Amino acid sequence: MSKGKKKKRTLFRVLLISCCAFMIVLTFSVVRYVDRIAENRMGTKVRRVDAVVLDEEERAELVQGQDKPTPTVLPTKPPTPTPLPPPEVDFTEEYAHSGEFTEVCAYGKGVPYGMRYPSYEEEEGGAEIRKAAEGFLTQQLDKFGDVSGKECSLIIDYEDGAFGQLASVLFRAVREIDGETESESKLWIYNKKNKTIVDSSALFGKKAYEYAAGLVKQKEGKTPEVPEGEELFSSYLLTADGVKFFYEADAEERFVSVPYPAIHTYMAVTVGGTVVKETIRELDPEKPMIALTFDDGPHYQNTPRLLEILKENDVRATFFLLGSRLSWNGSAEAVELLVASGNEIASHTQNHEMLATLSREKLQKEISEARDKIFEMTGDYPTFLRAPYGNYNDTVKKYTQAPIILWNLDSEDWKSKDKDTIVAHVLEEAGNGKIVLMHDIHTFTVDAAEELIPKLKERGYQIVTVRELFYYKGVDPENGKVYHSSYN
Ligand code: ZN
Repeated sequence: MSKGKKKKRTLFRVLLISCCAFMIVLTFSVVRYVDRIAENRMGTKVRRVDAVVLDEEERAELVQGQDKPTPTVLPTKPPTPTPLPPPEVDFTEEYAHSGEFTEVCAYGKGVPYGMRYPSYEEEEGGAEIRKAAEGFLTQQLDKFGDVSGKECSLIIDYEDGAFGQLASVLFRAVREIDGETESESKLWIYNKKNKTIVDSSALFGKKAYEYAAGLVKQKEGKTPEVPEGEELFSSYLLTADGVKFFYEADAEERFVSVPYPAIHTYMAVTVGGTVVKETIRELDPEKPMIALTFDDGPHYQNTPRLLEILKENDVRATFFLLGSRLSWNGSAEAVELLVASGNEIASHTQNHEMLATLSREKLQKEISEARDKIFEMTGDYPTFLRAPYGNYNDTVKKYTQAPIILWNLDSEDWKSKDKDTIVAHVLEEAGNGKIVLMHDIHTFTVDAAEELIPKLKERGYQIVTVRELFYYKGVDPENGKVYHSSYN
């Protein structure tokens, strides 16, 4: 290499390094500048479409401390992985006797057997579990047929779990005849609240199994081969932490655990053991339906008043509760009335942030904190999520783990702050399958609802919850999907 070329090369290198250094400094400056602009925008220029706007009266109360938010010290948790872990609630307390069992070793129909099944107190289904175990034993003994001259045995064991008022027991039997073994399992679910055996085959829909299958794929690297005509999952068990779905891979039984919030909307039973279908009233599918939804509550005065109005008119609505507001004075009482009323409870996130602008960790926190708080106060997970300001993006859709319910009729109560204007506007825009946005924290909105509801009924509308609307309109809500009405 000539001296000239070498010199040129050195010069080129120096230039290149300088350029890089300059670019790095420039990038930092731009990022900081953009951050500052964003900060300014977030602070001042965000149009608060449906924010918690306090009127004079409410502000005065705030000053007096009557409706003052209690500051909550939030525990610092590490960022949550996907899917979100279940809330830390100890359900095993509901079944104090979980862990104790009855053991029987005897002969039946010429077969020596050993059986274990859980012991429950009589009021918690003691007689029922004995009956279930004996029934399963008889059924298994019958399968041996003629055993004369054969070496055989039967072992029945179990695994159990409890979730809320539901006890679930998975019996497993291993039959052995001349060295050949066959196994079989049977699931038993008991609702101790209404003392009934739950139809375990009806608990989950196709979507729940699809979700669990996705987790199996993640765990195994691929979905295990399943013989034609058979299901991937041999059984499942309800535990305090989630649903354990069992499957077979490499000739052994394995399972994936699915936290309840991830498949809650696909379950036919809610946490309290209430069958969801019961919360869907019998309505006329042919008649028009409209879903009134109320955001930003609960309000210690306006929410209970609205509940009375709904009750008097024999209609239901959906309440998108704000997590941070649940700690306010008077909220617990309002929520108690709300739960008892049968109206639908959904989430409006923890702090009413614009979700699309948040980091992933913050976003998950906004969703999970409200969800856990609602669970803690109502004993059930919120059915849906409403993104504040209707603000969302793909990341929000991915991490909500709930269907996102927006609206296609904005009552604009936040704008007009006037009862007559709200009533006239909603009546004018009302339509079959529409979802109406309102805010039950305002007195004028509740005044409007009082007048509006009978008028909508006069026009033939059935006023329903979002869940009812979807149920009757044949919409199967999917997690992470955005809905504005029953038709778009
Ligand atoms: Zn809102």
